[in-house]
Amino acid sequence: MVNSYTFVVFAGVDGVGGGALVAAELEGAVVDDSCALIALLPPSPEQPTVARATRAATPSAARRRDQVRMGHRSSRPGSTTVRVPRAAYGHGVSGVTDLMLEGGHEQVVFAADGEARLRAIIAIHSTALGPSLGGVRFWRYPTEHEALLDVLRLSQAMTLKAAVAGLHQGGGKTVVLVDDPDQPHSEAMLLALGRAVDELGGRYLAAEDVGATPGDMDVIARETRWVTGVDERVGGSGDPSPVTAYGVFHAMRAVLRALDGEPLLAGRRVVVQGAGHVGSHLIELLAGARAEVVVADVNEARARTVAGEHGASVVASDRVLEESCDVLAPCALGGVLDRGTEPRLQCRAVCGAANNQLAEPSVADLLASRGILYAPDFVANAGGIINLAEEFTGYSRERALARAAGIEETMTRVLERARESGTTPERAAEELARERIEREGAGRPWRPGDPTAWTDGKPLTTLRPGH
Ligand code: NAD
Repeated sequence: MVNSYTFVVFAGVDGVGGGALVAAELEGAVVDDSCALIALLPPSPEQPTVARATRAATPSAARRRDQVRMGHRSSRPGSTTVRVPRAAYGHGVSGVTDLMLEGGHEQVVFAADGEARLRAIIAIHSTALGPSLGGVRFWRYPTEHEALLDVLRLSQAMTLKAAVAGLHQGGGKTVVLVDDPDQPHSEAMLLALGRAVDELGGRYLAAEDVGATPGDMDVIARETRWVTGVDERVGGSGDPSPVTAYGVFHAMRAVLRALDGEPLLAGRRVVVQGAGHVGSHLIELLAGARAEVVVADVNEARARTVAGEHGASVVASDRVLEESCDVLAPCALGGVLDRGTEPRLQCRAVCGAANNQLAEPSVADLLASRGILYAPDFVANAGGIINLAEEFTGYSRERALARAAGIEETMTRVLERARESGTTPERAAEELARERIEREGAGRPWRPGDPTAWTDGKPLTTLRPGH
């Protein structure tokens, strides 16, 4: 049986962090009665899976599919279906406001400059708690529509991350559409992007993300003062990885306390997937706390070097999920936990730095049903954004580390709430974030010239006082 229709599905759009934004285009797809939906996920560094089939029980599958096609219901519980005109899908900006309304986004800016070869989308999800903060990602997207979905999803996640971390910023993100993310970015393109950021007057604060280099941020900063994470010599916060790792380490303590009543890492077996910037710092901290550390990296030489420096052992990167341990710490790519990998896990808990570890929100329920405690990534890895926010009051690494240690208390609150209300930690964290935005948010978007929580009632005119 062949069906031909087009629609977009948000999976758990109101549950960012876990709430992956899923786009599905069923264009001439072969669908039988037991297959309700084939979802094409936008390829991104954090969602490497490109296709997944969701099976629904017959005989309701055909009816369910019809309801989805008619836009009356979603393909999964807790998700919403939005119909997008076929002609518009992937070929223009029609439907963008539908997507924004669904996700609760305040503003989406498309920036294009032919001479500079710039194609970028800036998404501001929320400024209720203050100016939106989020990285600039350079990536090759198959279509502009997929870039849009990615930036909407990522900016939404930043809102939750900042809110639950107790910061006075909202969520934003930029994606820049490039042919090859590994090629150096031209000065003209970066300057054009800087002008686009500048026009937002501080409503969006840019930072480094996948594909960006510190040098790129320096060039962008020539056109706008609304850039964070700049060089330490000009009041910036430098490499956030040590602070992120410190936060993950403290999140792990909270996890162990929830599991066993005491937070100590000594003697615990922790498997770290990815010995990169964050992973290597985390391994050092774990080894210092006398944990038994196991390291995996696709770059085996790196895994061996880092493990050797800290007395850790090495496991092959394709065997890492099956490794028996107390805590698995994903510190490589996102999307690592899905329906295929979940049955392989031999850990008691998952707590790591990677963004968007759950390939889809329902994996949180699968983990819970197996008794695996999942520490929401956007709570555990907030050290990076905490580090950036420290710039605004005069950067101090000591203060950034002290605040990142506070993730232990935040995670404890999340896990306690989940236990008391019988929900997953992921949902508990999302609820905490939303409650804070309702309680402390301005109730309206932040405007250029408004004060912020850190400017003592004065308008925000600069990000780094004295520089
Ligand atoms: P990185 O690129 O420095 O390190 C990633 C490491 O993972 C690399 O060594 C890579 O070889 C390895 N790797 C890739 N695929 C792998 C696989 N399948 N199995 C094992 N190893 C694999 O990145 P990073 O800065 O350390 O960030 C790691 C994760 O944490 C990313 O998801 C990032 O988005 C997230 N994160 C980082 C920060 C930060 O401060 N750097 C903050 C928040 C979140």
